[in-house]
Amino acid sequence: MKDTFELATLGVRAGQARTEFKEHSETLFLTSSFVFDNAQQAAAKFTGGEDAFIYSRFTNPTVSMMQDRLAAMEGGESCVATASGMSAILAMSMALLKAGDHVVCSKAVFGATVQLYAGILARFGVETTFVSPLDAGDWERAVRPRTRLFFLETPSNPLTEISDIAAIAAVAKRAGALLAVDNCFCSPALQRPLALGADLVIHSATKYLDGQGRVLGGAIVGPRKLVMDGIFGFLRTAGPCLSPFNAWVILKGLETLELRMNAQSASALELARWLEAQPGVARVYYPWLASHPQHELARRQQRAGGAVVSFELEGGRAAAWKLIDATRMISITANLGDTKTTITHPATTTHGRISPEARAAAGITDGLVRVAVGLESQADLREDLARGF
Ligand SMILES: *Cc1c(COP(=O)(O)O)cnc(C)c1O
Repeated sequence: MKDTFELATLGVRAGQARTEFKEHSETLFLTSSFVFDNAQQAAAKFTGGEDAFIYSRFTNPTVSMMQDRLAAMEGGESCVATASGMSAILAMSMALLKAGDHVVCSKAVFGATVQLYAGILARFGVETTFVSPLDAGDWERAVRPRTRLFFLETPSNPLTEISDIAAIAAVAKRAGALLAVDNCFCSPALQRPLALGADLVIHSATKYLDGQGRVLGGAIVGPRKLVMDGIFGFLRTAGPCLSPFNAWVILKGLETLELRMNAQSASALELARWLEAQPGVARVYYPWLASHPQHELARRQQRAGGAVVSFELEGGRAAAWKLIDATRMISITANLGDTKTTITHPATTTHGRISPEARAAAGITDGLVRVAVGLESQADLREDLARGF
């Protein structure tokens, strides 16, 4: 593949490896191991590194196709796939950090990511400081001699706060730390963190990469040296690998990624504008609205606003629950990244386990509702929501 293809082309074509049968569509290799012609070849393949197909915990052709396609789309040299988004963050951390190291992490990251750094990795002697996603100075002030990793997610969930990737990457570089960006909400269709100075991109492929709510998966993309010499070795040994079946589903999902992200972003923007005009709506959070505090930054950094819209109702929790319960089509579920639109009440679901004070500090009020817009018609979405106002 020439590397000058545009994203839509890479999504359909990059990474495909055909067998001798010349199949047109990508093959699903459901096999746990691979055979050798003789003992000498087996020995050679075992010492040959990541390119040899030996055993599907670490090498499988379907998984390789998915990894190569995603690497091309993110503009990275290498990619390793994992069983879930969380296992991607775990594998990266286990491979790159050791006891005594320090992490600086945005406060506005996925709840399980907070628990991973503040709870699990703390038990292994890795300390984490949580800082503002919006203030690069806060990141600078948190740096210590043993700071090895910066971690952020942009736009954030559920308030769609935008971190300045290039500014925070510059701080990381001065500190001698690596910057990892969880690119779940935008996907490479809307944002390419490596081009903005990030060292690694993390994905929950469960969301927009699959895009249809079918499988769990994750990935880490970045330079060959970090990904293959560092993280791949951890995965090979510890085994939180992606199944070939899930890799195949995600691989086919990547073919429609740009189309879906563009359509879902356009629909989300229309819905956000409509929501701003509804009675009882105090505030709408969506990066492509002029009222968004980081609107200019979002326009520089992203190609569209993404599919997640949050809004605050004046009537608090009662109004939020009434709106959610009045829907007949939209799915009441905490997941996102699906062609089916979903609706959730963050304060009592995704952010229900944190203290009321921490929730208030994070801006997650009782009246906040999050909608992750799918591919249904705009008119039907509005009708479903209008019933609850
Ligand atoms: C869902 C999600 C994750 C975790 O991914 P899983 O595939 O569920 O493990 C990580 N980061 C973000 C931003 C997410 O939305």
